[in-house]
Amino acid sequence: MPAVAARLDCLFVLRMSMERLEEQLTLVEEPPGATFRRAFDAAIRQLVTHVNRPMFQVFVSKVKPLECANNVATLGVRNELDRSWLSSRYGRMIGNAIATQLGHPVTVEFVPLPPETDDHLPPEMTLSDSEPQTRMSKPLAPLPLPHFMPGLTFDTFVVTPSNRHAEASAQAVVTGPGTRFNPLFIFGGVGLGKTHLLHAIGVETLQRRPDTRVACMTGEAFADQYITALRGGCIDEFRRMQRSVDLWLIDDIQFIAGKERTQEEFFHTFNALYQTGKQMVLVSDKPPKGICDIQERLRSRFEHGMMAEIQYPKADERAAILLDKAKAERFDLPMDVVHFIADKIQSSIRTLEGALTRLISQVSLTAEPPSIAMASAILGGFFIDSQPQRQAVSVDAIQKACCKYYRIELDELVGTRRTSSVAEARKVAMYLARENTPLAWKAIGRHFGGRDHSTVLHAHRSVAQSVGQSSELDNALREVMRLANGR
Ligand code: ADP
Ligand code: MG
Repeated sequence: MPAVAARLDCLFVLRMSMERLEEQLTLVEEPPGATFRRAFDAAIRQLVTHVNRPMFQVFVSKVKPLECANNVATLGVRNELDRSWLSSRYGRMIGNAIATQLGHPVTVEFVPLPPETDDHLPPEMTLSDSEPQTRMSKPLAPLPLPHFMPGLTFDTFVVTPSNRHAEASAQAVVTGPGTRFNPLFIFGGVGLGKTHLLHAIGVETLQRRPDTRVACMTGEAFADQYITALRGGCIDEFRRMQRSVDLWLIDDIQFIAGKERTQEEFFHTFNALYQTGKQMVLVSDKPPKGICDIQERLRSRFEHGMMAEIQYPKADERAAILLDKAKAERFDLPMDVVHFIADKIQSSIRTLEGALTRLISQVSLTAEPPSIAMASAILGGFFIDSQPQRQAVSVDAIQKACCKYYRIELDELVGTRRTSSVAEARKVAMYLARENTPLAWKAIGRHFGGRDHSTVLHAHRSVAQSVGQSSELDNALREVMRLANGR
């Protein structure tokens, strides 16, 4: 064996010396910096095959090797955002890879390049003549790179019956943007994976087509940027940027509710993008008709494309997701503990993740294997949090929440009108009052204009029969309770 090792060493030294010799020779012929650029290219080629993270690939494909002097490799990046993202996550790794290629230690420094020297950026998009509002003589500035949260990709998204439709629609948007599913409107309760899918669409699109102009922001950020642009006198620039994107990802759209001017702007941006066949994905915690204080014309546009709901996962789906997350952390979670947690935590995947993190840290602190007793002891707080609908609320709060959700007045809710939307709201309010307050049928009836107990009982039964059968109803029940609890 030592003889083989010695021969391998010998071969290695020989190969290194040949490479060095080649390098020396090319140094004579090549322009300054060529060795560094070659080392950089080789280092990145090697890293990309080992680090199979889409965002890494997207980011590094935009990096430009500038120079290497005094063991400092200077790399050009598109903007400040890229600089901080790359240096915090991959600075050392890229430095080590370049050092291996060059044969001496290297530290890496990322410097944002001014746009005019940024010749590695995607070609500018030209706007069509059919868009007079957005046609300008100035070239388009590069969009700030969307801030996608690491790990929110299709690979890490566990597909279950509750989210299958939304996931398939999201995939369809990546493969055929701007076609059938435009806009794609994803909605569902808090912590169920809406943002995860939205970011996955952005990450996957950039991975497949790095030149795509992607904007990803919340409805609130859109409103803030719009107001800032108005105040700062750069509204044209704001419009140009918004309308120049190929993929428009807007999270938590419900935040533009009640903001008239923002909605106006949103409407025109939406139309401009729609007319030019650009893909839009909108995310909300409610279906369009559940969003209060939103213009009717926006609501109808939201409903115009594909609507995909993420429903609350059932116990076995929660168990599957928990198991997958534990595996990703290489954490050995016995099946009885998986089912125990999945049964107890019903509120959201986010809460489920929080519980897992707590359990992992407890196990690493105590070195005890995870058990039901341990889970029960440390996750008590989570279990209480996960049952918000059981908190005491008043009938008044439920009625107000119902009026808000169904957009009707209180006197209509407690009155005698029988139009279908009022009648449905009334039944829902009665059902929730019975489920969430200690009041008897008769007492609840008194809150609804003195109705007798059989009316309340009948309403309760009719809603109870549909629970779990209609996602629209389930969503309404959840949302009304969320509003009633002031969340
Ligand atoms: P929402 O935007 O619906 O409030 P998020 O997308 O932020 O929820 O999801 C909350 C957390 O749960 C995130 O960490 C996300 O990765 C995780 N999550 C949600 N659904 C899934 C799923 N189906 N598979 C894996 N992780 C999920
Ligand atoms: Mg979200």
